[in-house]
Amino acid sequence: LMQLFRPLDMLGWVYRTIRQGLIDMAAMFRLIDTPVEVSDAPNAPALLVRKPTVVFDNVVFGYEDDRDILHGLSFEVPAGAHVAIVGPSGAGKSTIGRLLFRFYDPQSGRILIDGQDIASVTQESLRAAIGIVPQDSVLFNDTIGYNIGYGREDARDEDIARAAADAAILPFIRSLPDGFDTEVGERGLKLSGGEKQRVAIARTLLKNPPILLLDEATSALDTRTEQEITGTLRRVSRNRTSIAIAHRLSTVADADTIFVLDKGRLAESGSHQQLLRHDGLYAEMWSRQATEDVEEVN
Ligand code: ATP
Repeated sequence: LMQLFRPLDMLGWVYRTIRQGLIDMAAMFRLIDTPVEVSDAPNAPALLVRKPTVVFDNVVFGYEDDRDILHGLSFEVPAGAHVAIVGPSGAGKSTIGRLLFRFYDPQSGRILIDGQDIASVTQESLRAAIGIVPQDSVLFNDTIGYNIGYGREDARDEDIARAAADAAILPFIRSLPDGFDTEVGERGLKLSGGEKQRVAIARTLLKNPPILLLDEATSALDTRTEQEITGTLRRVSRNRTSIAIAHRLSTVADADTIFVLDKGRLAESGSHQQLLRHDGLYAEMWSRQATEDVEEVN
């Protein structure tokens, strides 16, 4: 009889060991606090954008459980509006962008695009609706044409050329001996910061998203290039909703609305003139930056 039970006993031991292993693993993951991967809800529908409005509704978010970064943040971006988010370093500006792209889910509150909760639609459709022009654009070690067309396999040569023209980088590409076939990146032609950003703008234009998230890279560029890029971005933002995450104030003055964030809360909002008249945090940041710019020049 014992002989009959031993394999069963053995099986029980294996079961207990595996179960304990799973529990240990669960405990370990809790300890090291791996970010919870966002996942699509079962049968999640695609996001359908007719009017590209963006709403943050009482959003509470922290990267870690015991430290909230956004404390019940609410704001609305009407369709076609160009808004800027400004605020002191660490206020949570880039976090807003990460949440809109759904790299993370809020602890509570909702983020809506055209009335649809972004947590309830497919991530693929959400990310197709938002074009990001990031601070530091990564280029692949491939041709400049590939770098612009990346992400749109069906892009034709003329589509790529039109996107390059709209991003104001076509004359530069045409001036290269190999044109769109020029190898760029680490092993090829090194592009300047401004050229790289134009490639990123062209790539985004090819995607043709109704919403643009501009993560401004103004610190890396000289003033003239910065102004030119700002002009290009302004042009390509027409007929789209744009949200600029601005780390400096120089480019935000003509936004329809400026949201001033302070320690994860909306401190003020309004146009540049309204905020200057309000004489609060924005006015203070503006005069401080103006002084710093003068110091930089001298
Ligand atoms: P800056 O203008 O300096 O870039 P910001 O307003 O964009 O600042 P965020 O990058 O949104 O600020 O960061 C807000 C807060 O969240 C900061 O205190 C930062 O330390 C924290 N934070 C940012 N990313 C993470 C992360 N991945 N894990 C934990 N904390 C983070």
